[in-house]
Amino acid sequence: MHGFKYRHGKLSCEQVALSDLVRKHGTPLYVYSAGTLADHYQRLDQALAPVPHQICFAMKSNSNLAVLRTLADLGSGFDIVSAGELARVIAAGGDARKCVFAGVGKTEAEIAFALRQGIYSFNVESEPELARINLVAGRMHTQAPVALRVNPNVDAHTHAKITTGTYENKFGIAFENIEGIYERARRLKNLKLRGVQMHIGSQLTEVKPFADAIIKVLPMVARLAKRHELEFFSIGGGMGIVYDPALASGEADWWKQKRTRGLLTPARYANTLVPLLRNLKLRILVEPGRFISGNAGVLVTRVEHVKQTGRKRFVIVDAAMNDLIRPAFYDSYHEIVPLRLARGKTVKSDVVGPICESGDSFCKDRPLPAVKEGDLLALMSAGAYGSVMGSNYNSRPLAAEVLVRGARTSLIRRRQSISDIWAGETLAAWQR
Ligand SMILES: *Cc1c(COP(=O)(O)O)cnc(C)c1O
Repeated sequence: MHGFKYRHGKLSCEQVALSDLVRKHGTPLYVYSAGTLADHYQRLDQALAPVPHQICFAMKSNSNLAVLRTLADLGSGFDIVSAGELARVIAAGGDARKCVFAGVGKTEAEIAFALRQGIYSFNVESEPELARINLVAGRMHTQAPVALRVNPNVDAHTHAKITTGTYENKFGIAFENIEGIYERARRLKNLKLRGVQMHIGSQLTEVKPFADAIIKVLPMVARLAKRHELEFFSIGGGMGIVYDPALASGEADWWKQKRTRGLLTPARYANTLVPLLRNLKLRILVEPGRFISGNAGVLVTRVEHVKQTGRKRFVIVDAAMNDLIRPAFYDSYHEIVPLRLARGKTVKSDVVGPICESGDSFCKDRPLPAVKEGDLLALMSAGAYGSVMGSNYNSRPLAAEVLVRGARTSLIRRRQSISDIWAGETLAAWQR
């Protein structure tokens, strides 16, 4: 499911027309559907029901407090990558004991903070990091729960900037070295070996690379689990979503077989992976980010100008790469649709932001309805890696965010004011 559909010709989030939200909150505006977040979480949760499991939402994809709370209320834990993210979980009323801490560069202060909060596991990416966690835990007279992140050296066949499971990238510990490191870790008194972790990449749209990686590491995981009395095996996140026109239009049912042929649905994911995992008798952790939040959000923007130069038609909008960097950063595709349903002729258009960079572009030569100044557009599937990657580049304030649930709406981040942008800055002492 996704909660964005045309109702009476107006693109709506659940029961609320996006144009009504724009009247109240302006543009650029992120809008999230609480129903969609919950639906994605619950579908995955149910599909994994045959094995003991915990979903740890990868909050780097969307860390708004209200989004976190929506998921925490359903039982979600969180995959965190910094002390800041853990502090957000706590601020949102989430449970630190359901958090796993990933990342290659955890500082001593971050480790100490996470230990004080009682997180479930540190997912460790190197031997020096193990030594550091042992040291910090020792100082605090406690034991740190850890899992090593195994790099299975399989290619997830995804974009180079989001593949993580081969030896060409900085993540995890080489498959061949894992067992030796567990043996050495066993002798570190302030560690509690709790699990094994793996994450091979992001935006995987087929189940095969997941299955290949699991099949490759499974015998080793079973040996490790027995030898070290482990509790869990995390198979990471990375389930891809459809950034596809049929979905953005809201006319197709996202989950219908014919629309998702060959694509990753929770059922397909679980039907392939659960039989592999069932005999392990370990708790299975999954860390989906994009799968839960991606299609639960859109970015609404207003057309400022339409500029025709030679053969090109530029639709200049008030959202920019500082609001949504994915197209500039990963060449990613976002469906772009008008808030008012338009039928009939399309014109090839480049939708671009106002920032002084040629990369500040959302699409090139895409057939779009002939929009004009003042029209409103939605960049679909912007709920993951959208707002969280926002910046103040060009001194542009961060966009406002709204959460919709049924007919109810709530502003969950106010639009940043211009003076907020330099709130932490001062003139140099000699300039005052
Ligand atoms: C980024 C990340 C995830 C989530 O990735 P998605 O593609 O958004 O599901 C999960 N686990 C780890 C360790 C990550 O770094």
